[in-house]
Amino acid sequence: MAALSITALSNFFSEEHKSISRGENHYKSGHIECFSYADGVIRGQVHASMKSKVYKVTIYLDEKDCIKSTDCECPRGAFKCSHAAALFIHGIHNVSRTDVECSWKKKKVTDKTPDSATELFPSNKENYICLSRMPTDEDRRSLSSHLREYGRFTGLWWIMTPEPEPPKPLPIPTIEEVILSEEFQCIEGLQNQIAHVQERATVSNEIVKEVAQLTKGQRD
Ligand SMILES: [Zn+2]
Repeated sequence: MAALSITALSNFFSEEHKSISRGENHYKSGHIECFSYADGVIRGQVHASMKSKVYKVTIYLDEKDCIKSTDCECPRGAFKCSHAAALFIHGIHNVSRTDVECSWKKKKVTDKTPDSATELFPSNKENYICLSRMPTDEDRRSLSSHLREYGRFTGLWWIMTPEPEPPKPLPIPTIEEVILSEEFQCIEGLQNQIAHVQERATVSNEIVKEVAQLTKGQRD
């Protein structure tokens, strides 16, 4: 088990030190678009600086994980270019063992936050505030009842609907409640315990009807 080394980088680029420093800049600026490593071959795409272009880069390693050769689509591609250096530097930081395949892809950055209503619909009057006062509960009820006329699936109406009452507990204990009860824990002997559960779990017809009534339907 080995990792990619700085020695391998500096040996290969010994006469192209500029490629290392430029490669480092590519790497730090997040120019590596994707990276994969398998069986001694590193493949990836590196963004060209100043251009909206991406170069495909391949790096071939020997059995000691030293760089044998590199290949890049850029004009300098045949001459140990900075894109190859950048891809290898990414490997130094991210490949912890060269006997295992790995692949990586840059996450798309979406730093755009949704526009607020004020930004979407700017007023043409300066410092204009459309509310002369804060809305009251009465305003909310009135809006909600208007929205209701459009049907129950109006999104805003749904949001404004008050939360339903928490469900009432059922008039029968669950088996779990029975066997975890203190009463049950004090009973000795398996037969006595079974008898106790049977007794507590027995449900009359009236209770069956009551539970059926309580659990009927869904939220209005
Ligand atoms: Zn290149």
